[in-house]
Amino acid sequence: MKPKNELLFLALGGSGEIGMNVNLYGCNGKWIMVDLGISFSDPHYPGTDLVLPDLEFIERNAKDLLGIVLTHGHEDHIGAIPWLAEELGVPLYATKFTAGLIRYKLREHGLEKDIKLNIIEDDGHFRLGDFGIRYIPLAHSIAEGNGLLIETPYGNIFHTGDWKLDDKPQIGTPSTAEELTAIGDEGVLALVCDSTNVFNDNASGSEEMVRESLLEACKGIKTRIMVTTFASNLARLQTLGEVAKATGRQLCVAGRSLDRMIENAKATGYLKAFPDIVRFEEAMQLPRNKVMIVATGGQGEPRAALGRVAQGNHKLSLEDGDVVLFSSKQIPGNEIAIGIIQNRLAEMNVKMITERQADIHVSGHPGRPELKSMYEWIRPKILLPVHGEMRHMKEHARLGLEQGIPKAVVQKNGDVVRLAPGEPKIVGRERSGRLIVDGDIIIAADGATMNERRKISQNGQISVALAIDARGKLSGDPVLQTQGVPIEDERDEFLDEAVDAAKKATRKFSGDIAKLREDVRLAVRRTAREWTGKKPVVDVLIVEG
Ligand SMILES: [Zn+2]
Ligand SMILES: [Zn+2]
Repeated sequence: MKPKNELLFLALGGSGEIGMNVNLYGCNGKWIMVDLGISFSDPHYPGTDLVLPDLEFIERNAKDLLGIVLTHGHEDHIGAIPWLAEELGVPLYATKFTAGLIRYKLREHGLEKDIKLNIIEDDGHFRLGDFGIRYIPLAHSIAEGNGLLIETPYGNIFHTGDWKLDDKPQIGTPSTAEELTAIGDEGVLALVCDSTNVFNDNASGSEEMVRESLLEACKGIKTRIMVTTFASNLARLQTLGEVAKATGRQLCVAGRSLDRMIENAKATGYLKAFPDIVRFEEAMQLPRNKVMIVATGGQGEPRAALGRVAQGNHKLSLEDGDVVLFSSKQIPGNEIAIGIIQNRLAEMNVKMITERQADIHVSGHPGRPELKSMYEWIRPKILLPVHGEMRHMKEHARLGLEQGIPKAVVQKNGDVVRLAPGEPKIVGRERSGRLIVDGDIIIAADGATMNERRKISQNGQISVALAIDARGKLSGDPVLQTQGVPIEDERDEFLDEAVDAAKKATRKFSGDIAKLREDVRLAVRRTAREWTGKKPVVDVLIVEG
């Protein structure tokens, strides 16, 4: 698939899921990529943390790829760069704060010299072949959220990236209604837009409101305060610095991602008035009403600062009457892990305030009123929902059509959409999918390794070793070992019976080793099934003498 005299869109991630955004635009033989993100793993991939998009399609067509343009610094937009960008061999483009975060990643992976990273001014223009690209600042839950105006010979695309409307975002200067209307006046063929919060009837709300609520909440507290929030939300960090000052508290910061984010913020001109940070020891010596601790771990990560404090496993500690503010939302899937930490804190008589008790968090994605405003300003001919599961994208398309956008195209990862010329429609299908980072190795999500891992983790494993002599007879007894099979008190009895079953199976041996292996496997598995009701993975190792 090579783009001809046409304008194509192809998502390799982020359409049909929330996470690992990768979008391709194709025109006159060339492609550009917008974003290259990761997803976080789930229990379906035991023992792993990261999920990457499968880029086989564009790797095969890498000679036609002109560059990778990054909208903003969230992991679902830049996280896959250190794993996948080098092979594509093209330069990256990002604004300075985002570029700072990317540089950390490249340095960590020893790739700083191998991947060219171009820094573009906040509202900078540049060209990649037939694509003219302009960064359009928009509010989001990280500094330097950006949309992209992509000019092509077939019309302009407004790719929103992740966005919200916020008149008082505390950090950055988002484009105004007038500026966005001016983009609409130039004519926009397609609006490629964030679908995350399409089911929210209300607008996302302002960081200014969060600032007031946090200040109000903290004013009334006479004990130690710990606040957990997303490290990348610089506006929130700046607010917490201000609230600490305003309430006469020293600021302490716990968590590596926060340290890195603050360092990058200062290096790129943000958090200029941020208070000095006190060390853990000093924070614990201060009177309880003189300290505010900002900590990572609000999503229930057991190894992050809040989780370790809750386990009593950190230099910082909380006691009866201290308060933890969750200035974050629960990301779906993390409720159980967050609950574990909240129960531990409750047992310690620590008070908790979440977004349910006070307006101490706002989302970074647009609700319906914000989406409607964007449609009115941009006035696209086509709406192309992205950054959503299928239910979000379908609803987003319905909303856009209802609001008078003439056409909407609902696509998912791998669908090739022709935006122009002619009617917009899906014209093909390319490979897309997920890869898993397992240790240092990247493997297919649906491949043998993950299948085996899942089976072993769910059913346990039995290894059987036996030796066959030159006459084809069993030499000695088979040896068995179990891993994670629910045999505890009657272990010896079980092993005796399983060894007997294996021995019996070898009696039928006629010279066919593969058949012997299968007979022994089935015999041992049958025994395990009878004893436990489980079907463990059984591996049979045969030594021939
Ligand atoms: Zn984002
Ligand atoms: Zn995102």
